[in-house]
Amino acid sequence: MTSQSSPERPCRVCDGVTQRLGSVHGSFSGRDYELRRCTTCRYAFIANPWTEFDRIYDDRYYAGRGADPLVDYQFELDDPERTIRVYEWRGITRTVEALVGGLTGVRWLDFGAGNGGLVRHVLEHTGAAATGFEEGSIAARARLAGIPIESALEAQSASFDVVTAIEVLEHTLDPVAELRRIRQLLRPGGLLLLTTGNAAPFAANLTRWPYVVPEIHVSFFEPGTLRRALQRAGFRPAAMPGGGGFDEVLKFKVLKNLRFRRRTILTDLLPARPIAVLADRRTQLRAHPIAWAE
Ligand SMILES: [Zn+2]
Repeated sequence: MTSQSSPERPCRVCDGVTQRLGSVHGSFSGRDYELRRCTTCRYAFIANPWTEFDRIYDDRYYAGRGADPLVDYQFELDDPERTIRVYEWRGITRTVEALVGGLTGVRWLDFGAGNGGLVRHVLEHTGAAATGFEEGSIAARARLAGIPIESALEAQSASFDVVTAIEVLEHTLDPVAELRRIRQLLRPGGLLLLTTGNAAPFAANLTRWPYVVPEIHVSFFEPGTLRRALQRAGFRPAAMPGGGGFDEVLKFKVLKNLRFRRRTILTDLLPARPIAVLADRRTQLRAHPIAWAE
C-alpha cells in the first residue's frame, strides 16, 4: 500500500505525519524503494529498506564493488598517505581541534570508524587518545593493521570528550536512537561532530538526489531536521565553525565525486578554500550543525 500520507508510518524524528515523495530504483539490488518525508520536520527516509545488512556490508562493499562504488577502504588502509582521504582526516582533525581548543589527552571515539583511517590519523598526528567503533567486517582488517577498533561499546558511558560520526547517520533507520547511543558515550559538555548529506538544496526533487542510494542511505536530513533530532537525543546544536578544517573535508568530497582516488602533487596543490566555497553553494554541507552533549 502506498497511500499519500500514512499515519501508520510516523516520522522517526518528530512523530509527525509523513508523505510519499516517490520511488527510487536501487541499481545494486535491482529493487524499487519508497522515499517518504515528514511534513513537519522534513526528515526523509526509505520506507521499505533492504535490511539484509550482512549482504550489503560484505567484503565486496568495502572494496568498492558493492552498493557504493566510491568506497575504497582497502586501499586507504594499505596506503594512507597516498589516498585523497587524507584531506578528510586532516580536515576533521583540524575542525575538532578548533572546537575543543587542543587535542592532547582528549578521549576521542570515531563512531562508525570503517577501516579506522581517521583513528590512525588522529593517533599519529595529535596527542588525542583515539579509538574507533565499527560493527562491519572491515573492522577485523583495521585491527590487523594495529588500529584500535572496538565492535561493542558496553560499559563505556560518558567516557569520551569527542565523538565523530562521519557519514554514519544516513545509514541508520532510527537516527534519534543512534544519536542517543552516542550521547550516552559522551561526557556532559562533550562534542559530537558528524557529517551527512544536506537534503535542503535538493528538496524540490529529492528522488533524483544522487545521495539517495537506497540500499545503504536510508535517512536524509535538512539542517533543521538534524537540529531537532540532536535536541531530542540530549544535545545542544551549534553552528559549524568557519575556517580551514571543514574546507579540506569539502575538498575531499569534491575529489571523491570526480573519481579521484590517489593523492598527487596536483591534488595537494589544489587550494581548499575556493573549492569548498564553490562546492558548498551546491551541497550546503556547512549549514549542518555540530552538537554539544547537554
Ligand atoms: Zn518529522
